[in-house]
Amino acid sequence: MNILVTGGAGFIGSHYVRTMLEGGFAQFEDAHVTVLDDLTYAGNRDNLPAAHPRLAFVRGSILDRQLLADVVRGQDAVVHFAAESHVDRSIRGGGVFVRTNVEGTQALLEACLAAGVGRVVHISTDEVYGSIEQGVWSEESPLLPNSPYAASKAASDLVALAYVRTHGLNLSVTRCSNNYGPYQHPEKFIPLAVTNLLEGRPVPVYGDGGQVREWLHVDDHCRAVQRVLTGGRAGEVYNIGAGTAVANLTLAHRIAELCGAGADMVRHVTDRKGHDRRYALDQAKIERELGHRPLTGFEAGLAQTVAWYRDNPRWWKPLTDGGVRA
Ligand code: NAD
Repeated sequence: MNILVTGGAGFIGSHYVRTMLEGGFAQFEDAHVTVLDDLTYAGNRDNLPAAHPRLAFVRGSILDRQLLADVVRGQDAVVHFAAESHVDRSIRGGGVFVRTNVEGTQALLEACLAAGVGRVVHISTDEVYGSIEQGVWSEESPLLPNSPYAASKAASDLVALAYVRTHGLNLSVTRCSNNYGPYQHPEKFIPLAVTNLLEGRPVPVYGDGGQVREWLHVDDHCRAVQRVLTGGRAGEVYNIGAGTAVANLTLAHRIAELCGAGADMVRHVTDRKGHDRRYALDQAKIERELGHRPLTGFEAGLAQTVAWYRDNPRWWKPLTDGGVRA
C-alpha cells in the first residue's frame, strides 16, 4: 500500500504520518508513506522522523502540477491535509488561501484522476458552515463560511465533491472541529496561550471571549480520518466532532491555571473581524456508519498538551521569536 499525505509536515498531517509509521492504524502497518509538503512557515520537517524505511519526503507545492504528476503516480490513496490554515492570516491576506486551498486542491484532484488513484480523503473543517447560534450542523447544513480561510475551504470542498460527481473519483470529505495537541504552531489559540504564559506574557482573548468552540485531540481527528479513508463512502461528507464545547474565555482561564498563572494574565483584546460566535457539530453519521468515537477527554488531553509545550521549548521557541507569532 502506497499512501500520499499532503501537508504531512504540519500539525495534523504529521500526527497522522507518525501514527501510521508507528503502526497505529490496523492494516496499514506496512504502508509506504510519501509526504508532499512545501514547508511553509507552518510546516516543519522535524515533525517527522529524520529517516524511516517507509517514509519518503518530497518538498514541493500542490500548486506544482508537474511535480504532482510525478508524486501521485503509483499511489493507492491520497490524504489531503495541505492548506493555509490560520484564520487571522486569511484576514490579513486572502490570496494565498485561495491559491493553495482552492487551486492547489483542484490541481491535486486532477493529478489523482490522471494517475487513477483508488481512494482520496479531502480534509476540511467545520468552519465551512459559518456560525450557529443554537443547535448543531449536520453534513446537510448549508455552507455559509465567514472568513477568507473558511470560504477557501468551502470552495475546495465543493470542487472535491464535483470530482466525485463529474469524474467518479473515489473521494470523501471530512469536516472536523478545532484540534489541539502537540506540534501545533504557536499562532493557534491553545499553544499561543500556553507558550505566552510559559514566557511570562499574557494571553490575548478576542472580544468578550464568549466564542464557543468544540475541541478535539489531534489523535482523535487522525483516527477518524483513517476510518473515513478505509470505510467512508465516495461523495460523502463526514463531520468529526468532539462534543466538548468551551468558551474561549473559560479555556484561557483553565490554561492559565494549568500553567500556574493568575487570572490577571488573561487579557481581552479587540475582537477578530467577522468572528464566528459558535461552532457545533452533529457527529452521529461518523459514529453510526464508521463506529468512530473520540477517546481523549478534553481535561486530560489539555493537561498533556500543556505538559508537552512545557517539556519541548526547543520545538516552539524558534516559532515565537523574531515576530513570527500572528
Ligand atoms: P498546518 O498549518 O499546521 O499545516 C499545513 C501544512 O500544509 C504545512 O506543513 C504546510 O507547509 C503545508 N502546505 C501549505 N501550503 C502548501 C502547498 N502549497 N503545498 C504543499 N504543502 C503546503 O495545518 P493543520 O492545523 O495541520 O491543518 C491540516 C488540515 O486540517 C487543513 O486542511 C485544515 O484546514 C484542516 N483542519 C484543521 C483544524 C485545526 O484545528 N487545526 C481543524 C479542522 C480542519
